[in-house]
Amino acid sequence: MAVVKADLQACQGYANCVIGADDVFDIDDDGVVVVLKAEIPEPDRRRVEDAARTCPVSALVIADDGAGE
Ligand code: SF4
Repeated sequence: MAVVKADLQACQGYANCVIGADDVFDIDDDGVVVVLKAEIPEPDRRRVEDAARTCPVSALVIADDGAGE
């Protein structure tokens, strides 16, 4: 399992992440990313990582949740 971390200070509301994975990311009325689903099952990880990489300000990080360590 992976977890999504969003830097809300860095987010500029470009919404690239929403286009890439609209089941995981949304934008609120203030133009800041909302993480709809913080825990990402492994089958979805590649797709969500790809979406996170499209963020122009690198506000999104996908990390291991530490389980099994
Ligand atoms: S792509 Fe980055 S800057 Fe744009 S909404 Fe998503 S997190 Fe924010």
